[in-house]
Parts: sequence; C-alpha cells; structure tokens
Amino acid sequence: MTTIVLLASLIALGYTACYLAVCAASPWGRCRRCHGRRYHRTVIGTRRDCRRCDGTGIQVRLGRRLINYIRAEYRAGHQ
Ligand SMILES: [Zn+2]
Repeated sequence: MTTIVLLASLIALGYTACYLAVCAASPWGRCRRCHGRRYHRTVIGTRRDCRRCDGTGIQVRLGRRLINYIRAEYRAGHQ
C-alpha cells in the first residue's frame, strides 16, 4: 500500500516538474477566456475585446506566475 502511495506522489511530482519546466520555457499560454480569439461575441453579435488578455489572445501561465512569485520571495529573503 505504501508503495502505491509513494509511486502516485512521485508521478504527481514528476508531472508538476514537467509543467513548471514548460512554464519556465514558454511563459505565455493561450487565453483561457477567449481561447486565443482575442474577442468575445456579445448577445447582439458584435465583437468585444477580451478583457482578461486585453485583446492579445495570450496570457501568462499560472505556473509561470508561481515561478515569478517564488523567485521574488527568494530574492527578498537573500538581500
Ligand atoms: Zn482573452
């Protein structure tokens, strides 16, 4: 039983490490709100710029923000 738990946590750790590596390599991801289309369709059919990504269609990945946060904390503690 312990082996299964250990294996599962190892896989989860490996997955997280891969995700963070991807985030470090390419910090920009597709906007989750507009799916990279940069705009939304309103009820009357007009286009409106996506507010989440400011009409760029891309946004900083959550993992990258986490990395930035950890980096800032690390720097703040080592001055
Ligand atoms: Zn967007």
